[in-house]
Amino acid sequence: MRFQPKPLAAAGLLALCSLAHAGEKVWISVGDAALKLLQKQKVVTPAASASPMARLAGTDSSAATADRRAENIHLVQVDEDDLLHLSAAVHRELKRCGGFMFHPSQAEGLASLQRQAGTAKMAAVAALTRPSYTIAQQAVVPGLLSQMQASNIGQTIVDLSAYVNRYYQTAGGVSASDWLKQRWTTLAGGRSDITVEQFTHASWKQKSVIATIKGTDRPTEVVVIGAHLDSINQAGTTETTRAPGADDDASGVASITEVLRTMVANGYKPRRTLKFMAYAAEEVGLRGSQEIATSYANAGTNVVGVMQLDMTNYKGSVNDIYLYTDYTDSAQNTFVSNLIKTYLPTLKVGTDKCGYGCSDHASWTAKGYYASLPFEAAFNQDNPYIHTANDTYANSGNQADHSLKFARLAMAYMVELGSDGSTGIPDKTETFSGSLTLNQTRSFGPFKAGVGSFKASTTGTGDIDLYARRTSVPTTTTYDCKSDGSTSTESCSINLTANGDVYVLLKGYRAGNYNLTVTYKAPAGLLTR
Ligand SMILES: [Zn+2]
Repeated sequence: MRFQPKPLAAAGLLALCSLAHAGEKVWISVGDAALKLLQKQKVVTPAASASPMARLAGTDSSAATADRRAENIHLVQVDEDDLLHLSAAVHRELKRCGGFMFHPSQAEGLASLQRQAGTAKMAAVAALTRPSYTIAQQAVVPGLLSQMQASNIGQTIVDLSAYVNRYYQTAGGVSASDWLKQRWTTLAGGRSDITVEQFTHASWKQKSVIATIKGTDRPTEVVVIGAHLDSINQAGTTETTRAPGADDDASGVASITEVLRTMVANGYKPRRTLKFMAYAAEEVGLRGSQEIATSYANAGTNVVGVMQLDMTNYKGSVNDIYLYTDYTDSAQNTFVSNLIKTYLPTLKVGTDKCGYGCSDHASWTAKGYYASLPFEAAFNQDNPYIHTANDTYANSGNQADHSLKFARLAMAYMVELGSDGSTGIPDKTETFSGSLTLNQTRSFGPFKAGVGSFKASTTGTGDIDLYARRTSVPTTTTYDCKSDGSTSTESCSINLTANGDVYVLLKGYRAGNYNLTVTYKAPAGLLTR
């Protein structure tokens, strides 16, 4: 999570800025508080400013008025040398990450500003797919969730926290990236459809790590879950500075690692391509994720959804999961909260805002992609130990139960978006024939059916009545649909909103022969496999 400066930080900032010397000039975007401080010192003049209200007003007017944190955004040029001191100073004051967005050029900064403020909504790529957000994998997801283990997540947090620090410019930061690449490669278990690579960033040492499960029949559509690999200590991070970053953000990396482990352990193969990303250099301006998101947008990659897990293991608030509604996509946020309702119904969900681009999801949003940030707590109630030597597993209670909730949510997200509402159950028709004596009944099923239409119909002699029901065998009084006309020509349908079993019952109101036809059909556009 990145920082947002308060007046108190002025002292350090002012001191910092007047120290500004002729290092390389870089562009960053900051909120009001930081700009006001800098202007007081006449250190910087914004090249451009924009108000987020336009975006908020566009999508959620009530949020616009009620939004106590919707700071304006300003593009300013500063010395690169000041960036490290800058973020260290406000980490010290606010125990928040970064707090500014780094931009490789003024033009990039301007474009990003317009998108952050919502005054320019340029789709990232021409053919960006908006998923159906249909939840249809009830036959698959619960089984996978039940196999996910907090102990595995805890072990990964401990392994990553063992590095002195994972700062983007230190040997520890480089080794942690190499270690994670090896860990994910081992987990991939030699599957030919899985690759693990490191993304090299030209201007710093730490590489981002990306694992890819290639989609079976929609490989050009990509779903991303991410977390940041780097850690920071507000006191300024050298080779020997301790920055375990257990919650920020080893917990996020560990959560997505458990998703990958469980998918491979079950031989899960998605229809769309799934990507697991551990970003470098989040703490110093979202630099790793920005370079990756920019390269995807420039390549025209059709990323259909992005989820960011940054700090998942400290339960600081009454609810379990907080969906942050700024710098994210509201339609996808609704989908994510529906996933929680469907697969994690005991969890309580809240919403909040950062007021600035507070983690890597903002890099994707700035490129026009759909992103969400489920977070461990409400704003200002999150882990107080972040960016210090005390952000340890022990200070998260030596448990990863809170993280497990986020790992399971990420699994549901990847499976549902990865299959795009595909039921995984092919359309089918089955037929049966026979005869019934007076008042004799016969049941059929279970028929495996998914989201869509289930229909049963009969023809025949005599007078046979038809009943159908989800989940268990119907009776003549308990059913989801029936057809009991005076002949044996009967038909009834059930509209299914989730995968499930359906049963049919025939009763001989008068003796006769029957031909029973049972069909299941997914709705148009909803793929069956
Ligand atoms: Zn973080």
